Amino acid sequence: MNEINYQNFGPQRNWVDGQYKESSSDKTISVISPYFGKEIATVPDSNLSDLELAVKKAKQQFPYWAKINIRDRAEIMFRFKSILEDNVDELANLISLDNGKTIEDARGSIMRGKEVVEFATSLPSVLSGDSSQVANGITCTMTHQPLGVVAGITPFNFPAMVPLWMIPLAITSGNCFILKPSEKTPLSALKIAEYLKKSGLPENVFQVLNGTNEIVDGICDHPDIKAIAFVGSSSVAKTVYSRSTNSGKRALCLGGAKNHMIVVPDADLNSTAKGLLASSMGSAGQRCMAASVAIGVANIDPIVDQLIVEAKDFILGKDMGTIISNEALGRITNYINEAEEMGARILIDGRNPNPPKDYENGYWLGPTILDNVKENWSCAKEEIFGPVLSIIRTNDLEGAMKIENNNPYGNAAAVFTTSGEVAKTISENASSGMIGINIGVPVPREPYSFGGWNESRYGHGDITGESGVRFWTNLKKTTARWPQSDEKWKKYF
Ligand code: NAD
Repeated sequence: MNEINYQNFGPQRNWVDGQYKESSSDKTISVISPYFGKEIATVPDSNLSDLELAVKKAKQQFPYWAKINIRDRAEIMFRFKSILEDNVDELANLISLDNGKTIEDARGSIMRGKEVVEFATSLPSVLSGDSSQVANGITCTMTHQPLGVVAGITPFNFPAMVPLWMIPLAITSGNCFILKPSEKTPLSALKIAEYLKKSGLPENVFQVLNGTNEIVDGICDHPDIKAIAFVGSSSVAKTVYSRSTNSGKRALCLGGAKNHMIVVPDADLNSTAKGLLASSMGSAGQRCMAASVAIGVANIDPIVDQLIVEAKDFILGKDMGTIISNEALGRITNYINEAEEMGARILIDGRNPNPPKDYENGYWLGPTILDNVKENWSCAKEEIFGPVLSIIRTNDLEGAMKIENNNPYGNAAAVFTTSGEVAKTISENASSGMIGINIGVPVPREPYSFGGWNESRYGHGDITGESGVRFWTNLKKTTARWPQSDEKWKKYF
């Protein structure tokens, strides 16, 4: 594995006024590295005075930032993109340390986030607006205007990528953005603040407030914050959505997921086994696009046999990082224990993992594959957020479709088949926002936007692509009639 060295960064601060800033709260939160099971930093558990200050600064900066030409704002994104590229190792190291991803995984996540930065550089054309003559002597002009002070609240599992879904689009379109990163993985957000400053971003266009519920509730309630994007578990997404929309804000809150992969016997053996494994075990299953249920239609035994061969080759620390916390490890293990008690066949058991040398105190769980799982078991219904794949067997496509449709979430669904007709049927009928055909993690690439349906999203639209830009802007339509009949102009006509 790529070496990850233990480091203790000590007390961290917030980012306000284009620099690190002490919180006025004396409460702190310990940041634990899941590779070492040891503290690597502390962050302030910021309070409402910290929020008040950040909002005040952002509000003061907004009129200036909103008036800067969008080309100049996009120019900052061009510079930010190269700074991200130049510092990918530094950022990946921080992500691995506080999140537990492998370095390779962490780098990949930064590159995905960078795609949104690249898209943001195109906003001068995307937001060019429209103008035409709609009647004799009357023109309509449509422009996109920023909202003002806006905020983002993000989860632990992609500490840089998820903030990068929001920051580039929100600020390039002219807003001042406050980020509340996950208290479990706060290190990369502060680094992003430094990179944005180096890119030439004026102070207080981007700020970071560390903390937990108090800050989140404060953001939802604050009258000067116009919009909130949230990414995290469905229960918190739902609360943040109702609290912030109740206080008159625009909100888009992406929640948890339970994604399904439907496998039919005609699927290509090797690529399907690899696809099932990558989707369920990648990032140790801790991603909202992880598919944790494979629905086998009729006899898919040869594919399952190949899956076992591939899973046995998995090396912890190389193919998969750690679980985020000891608590999460216990929760995931309980799902496996319960499925075992219910009668699941355990094809691969990750409960006695083999951690890499020198990382024995980390939170490890090996790939786990459960067969003969029933649709109503907890492991088949709930988001596990760990490296556990449940295989449910059905006789036909209709049965598979019902299982997918019955699930309340709706982030992603995938089908593995060589039949165009099967692929078309599943992609048309799955009740999910992102569909994969022979792809287990169907994350759309920019400019195609990211977003699920049902209980995986509260609010309307997607978080990236043009949909994301629409979220962070208001449309203004100006209708003009010019007084051509005025006597003094007549001589010119
Ligand atoms: P989480 O809901 O626990 O935390 C997300 C954010 O909300 C954090 O910043 C946290 O500090 C804050 N928060 C947590 N509890 C709160 C409360 N009671 N009141 C106010 N704020 C609170 O999520 P997590 O464990 O960090 O991340 C994992 C979850 O995120 C999974 O469910 C995963 O599916 C989801 N996720 C979804 C997407 C998506 O695009 N749909 C992407 C990534 C992660």
